[in-house]
Amino acid sequence: MKEFDYIIIGGGCAGLSLAYELEINDKLKAKTLAIIEPRAEYKRDKTWSFWKVMSHNFDDCVMKSWKNFTINITKKTNHLECQSYPYQSIDSGLFYEKIINSLKKNKNISFFKDISEINPKNSFIFNSVPSIKKNYLNLWQHFCGVEIETQKDFFDDEIFNLMDFDCDQRESVHFFYTLPYTKTKALIETTWLSKMNDNSQKDYDNQIKDYLENHLKLKDYKITYKEQGAIPLFYPTYEDTKNKINIGTAGGMTRLSTGYTFLNIQEHSKYICKNIENISKVKKFEISKKYQFLDDIFLRVLNENPKIMPVIFFKMFKSSPKTVIKFLSNKSNFLEDLSIILKMPKWTFVKALFR
Ligand SMILES: Cc1cc2nc3c(=O)[nH]c(=O)nc-3n(C[C@H](O)[C@H](O)[C@H](O)COP(=O)(O)OP(=O)(O)OC[C@H]3O[C@@H](n4cnc5c(N)ncnc54)[C@H](O)[C@@H]3O)c2cc1C
Repeated sequence: MKEFDYIIIGGGCAGLSLAYELEINDKLKAKTLAIIEPRAEYKRDKTWSFWKVMSHNFDDCVMKSWKNFTINITKKTNHLECQSYPYQSIDSGLFYEKIINSLKKNKNISFFKDISEINPKNSFIFNSVPSIKKNYLNLWQHFCGVEIETQKDFFDDEIFNLMDFDCDQRESVHFFYTLPYTKTKALIETTWLSKMNDNSQKDYDNQIKDYLENHLKLKDYKITYKEQGAIPLFYPTYEDTKNKINIGTAGGMTRLSTGYTFLNIQEHSKYICKNIENISKVKKFEISKKYQFLDDIFLRVLNENPKIMPVIFFKMFKSSPKTVIKFLSNKSNFLEDLSIILKMPKWTFVKALFR
């Protein structure tokens, strides 16, 4: 059976980002790579959004960028600017197409549906398939989004809504998220932060219909695309092995307080590419321990006090938006961290720290 220098298990966001980074930096001219991906065809299945705090390879896959956003709780709206770090949305369909077209040109790169088709014994493996053990205490960010088109101009496409908590919370944390691509086209998402053990939270279609028709008062629209998912707000099991690195969600690239993963995947890909010649010896890349610690406390507070979370998120954005964005994107310094921490209800967080 055929052997390869490198194997990437899972040709999704992390697997393809890494393969592309290696390819454009000429790391696959003298090395062979096998990508193991079971899906029958690549089509748009996700919209990856993030504040652009660093450069990445996919500016040509960006559907829209915004420099303004809002966050709402009942009867209050905060208008914020993100000039320095625009919020971007990437179309996964364009991302897959761009990368696959580029990788297909290199004869050293091969695609397989299953790892049993090759001999992995002497390869270095990058694995993006997470190992998730069932635990009813684990928190998830689970959501469903629809892209809609309206007959008449309806949206203000200059400003997106990051979180609208003015909705049914059902003893959990729930918000809507609206990305207006044009005046007549937007992605509307219903998002829950919960243990995912309450099936009544999963009537996503009804929630979105109610939000569109009764909250936004929009009647005349058609759904053109739908995406659904659940992001683990905990780290999947990670076994340290000499010839294997986990990447993507499996590799702990999700910021647990937010679910943001895309840019961390890009940073990890750049790190691996820079160190590829010495990959089995370099330090494991991870989201800094500072954020792991702060997110752990934040999620404990969320778990125990879901009702106060809308106000906590709202208050967090009372700091300068640039500071909050840097904090949520793992780029803040000590003083910036402090300015966010001081906005939080101190006693609630101190209690969570000692629990
Ligand atoms: C719908 C959705 C929207 C999201 N939106 C955002 C966002 O806006 N911003 C953000 O930062 N993050 C977002 N995320 C989180 C994160 O960025 C994505 O989940 C991202 O796709 C993670 O990349 P990955 O490579 O780890 O996983 P995936 O992209 O899921 O890739 C894993 C791949 O492994 C393949 N696979 C599965 N089983 C096997 C197997 N046994 N062998 C080989 N391959 C296998 C799958 O087919 C898949 O292609 C979103 C997640 C979802 C689900």
